[in-house]
Amino acid sequence: MDFELDDDQRMFQRTLREFVNKDIVPVAAQWEREGRYPTEIVERFKELGLFGMTVPAAYGGLDLDRVSFALVFEEIARGWMGVAGILGSHSLAAWMIAQYGTAEQKDAHLAALASGDRRTGIALTEPGAGTDLQGIMTRAVRDGDHYVVTGTKTWITNARHADPLPVLVKTSVETPAHRGMSVLLIDAGNFTVSRDLPKLGYKGTETCEVVLDEARVPVSALLGGIEGRGMQQVLSALELGRVNIAARAVGVAQCAYDAALAYAKDRHAFGQPIADFQAIQLKLADMATEIQAARLMTYWAASRSAAGAVNTEAAMAKYFASEVALRATMEAMRVHGGYGYSQEFVVERLYRDAPLMAIGEGTNDVNRLVIARSLISGAARVGW
Ligand SMILES: Cc1cc2nc3c(=O)[nH]c(=O)nc-3n(C[C@H](O)[C@H](O)[C@H](O)COP(=O)(O)OP(=O)(O)OC[C@H]3O[C@@H](n4cnc5c(N)ncnc54)[C@H](O)[C@@H]3O)c2cc1C
Repeated sequence: MDFELDDDQRMFQRTLREFVNKDIVPVAAQWEREGRYPTEIVERFKELGLFGMTVPAAYGGLDLDRVSFALVFEEIARGWMGVAGILGSHSLAAWMIAQYGTAEQKDAHLAALASGDRRTGIALTEPGAGTDLQGIMTRAVRDGDHYVVTGTKTWITNARHADPLPVLVKTSVETPAHRGMSVLLIDAGNFTVSRDLPKLGYKGTETCEVVLDEARVPVSALLGGIEGRGMQQVLSALELGRVNIAARAVGVAQCAYDAALAYAKDRHAFGQPIADFQAIQLKLADMATEIQAARLMTYWAASRSAAGAVNTEAAMAKYFASEVALRATMEAMRVHGGYGYSQEFVVERLYRDAPLMAIGEGTNDVNRLVIARSLISGAARVGW
């Protein structure tokens, strides 16, 4: 059992940390307030090869090991969780194309996605169906060499920059729901971004409603070339997504803790630093302990995911780490007193960003059900 990063991972983490401290931390608060798209940060992601983190080297990708994948999201979220979203669904979609795409689809998309020349996202959720993906209404009806696709997707991160956008559709309504679902890789010219959704946090990346109005999509866009595999394809991508969300939660929680510790040493009350008060010390101890547990659980899920399916481990890590992030951001706000409520201190943004990790990639309640079901069925167990 080894709880340390290896030399390559350590060096990669150092590079990421320097980048985040230099190019993200100094601009995050102002750019978030201005609602400005972080184009310069996207360019740096490209230079670092981060758009290719889940793309095989044969297509110019970094093909990162899973712990390094988690490190990317932890480090960037420590600086600004919103911009981690630019890489989040992109890396899942690119992984899905690398994993399930036909040779033609890989040749058509992967090199451009790895370089960041083209980007992507993932469109599952609809106004009437989020958790219940089998309830989606978007239909793809075969018409010769094309599908005619009609439906509305909502909450789609990166939609304004996605080309292609993998879209979960129903290709059949006769078969059981999950077997009638497919993913189509739809070109940007074939869908309309109808609006940007106003959000509590997670600024810096757009989250949009997407409309498909009798879009004519060539059958060559069917991911993997066989109908009925969409549900299984997206569910396996969501396992990777849960590792990404867990790592983002650790990054947000770490930033909250760092801010609380620094503030507690600096702020004086009753003639002494507030860090001298036991009530403050207990908060710092709880935060540090929980964050370290969340980090280890996230790296554990990440490293196990390299060996195959990690439904339970990824759900545990995402559930636990996101709850830790919620608690840590609230506790950091308490340590800051009134200043924690001020937009001039980072904890205010962290407090707004943290809840997304309890919602995205399956709400935490749904992740708890995933964990419970695999324990009860015997597919997973706890303990040696
Ligand atoms: C900022 C943001 C970005 C997002 N980005 C994307 C994206 O890029 N692509 C994408 O496809 N989606 C995206 N989403 C959507 C996200 O995945 C969904 O919001 C999430 O899956 C929950 O779906 P819902 O909002 O429809 O909630 P619902 O499914 O309506 O759930 C509402 C409540 O009911 C509970 N519930 C539902 N079913 C059950 C059940 N069986 N048992 C117990 N409780 C249940 C849930 O836990 C929740 O508390 C994003 C969302 C946000 C907020």
